[in-house]
Amino acid sequence: MKILVPVKRVVDYNVKVRVKSDNTGVELSNVKMSMNPFDEIAVEEAIRLKEAGNADEIIVVSIGPKAATETLRTGLAMGADRGILVDYDGETEPLAVAKVLKAIVDDEQPGLVLLGKQAIDDDCSQTGQMLAQLLGWAQGTFASKVELADGGFHVTREIDGGLETIKLAAPAIVTTDLRLNEPRYASLPNIMKAKRKPIDEKTPGDYGVDMAPRLTTLKVEEPPKREAGIKVESVAELVGKLKEKGAIA
Ligand code: AMP
Repeated sequence: MKILVPVKRVVDYNVKVRVKSDNTGVELSNVKMSMNPFDEIAVEEAIRLKEAGNADEIIVVSIGPKAATETLRTGLAMGADRGILVDYDGETEPLAVAKVLKAIVDDEQPGLVLLGKQAIDDDCSQTGQMLAQLLGWAQGTFASKVELADGGFHVTREIDGGLETIKLAAPAIVTTDLRLNEPRYASLPNIMKAKRKPIDEKTPGDYGVDMAPRLTTLKVEEPPKREAGIKVESVAELVGKLKEKGAIA
């Protein structure tokens, strides 16, 4: 079985994001970029399935600028076998990404596509679901456990109030939640080896997909600053303050 893992290049999760002074977006120049953390979990899960003898090839794919090659190299250094860069310099919206991924799935015929549950830059949480719809495949989103069973997959999902285990027919789409695994760090020898692994360069046009955005961002603003809190000595004082503020009658 082949596993396809889409990996997005995003602002590193440790970076404190700053809004551009003209409110058109967030500052991306001179900002550390990394693989979307949920996609690292997806790469790790794919490698574990391969190590357990359940997969024979892992392909990482990124739709983004040339610099997204670094993101692919990170996946290759962790243990993926080859990469596909779909070169596009601009905002990538979930529907366009899902259409490109569908075309790649048609070419590569993977048994499983493992995506992150969401990209931490746009927080859309839509791409896996849209891809499942375009392909007509079963989907298991927000997975905290993935097992091969009954010729398909058993996926345990994190849902409001608990866990749900579902059975998916193969081929399928799975999106990863935080508790699925802890991704490995790439070792130095593997980073060196990854430099020799193949990365195919494509364009959205090769897949017949128009990446033009369908959404217009009107304005990006900082969240309102929170007022400093105060300490109260007693419950009676707390109730008094809440009454003063009109929070309770
Ligand atoms: P989103 O729907 O934008 O929250 O993204 C969900 C998942 O879709 C991500 O965790 C990635 O696995 C995948 N994805 C989204 N955008 C891209 C992209 N430009 N390139 C590769 N994978 C992507």
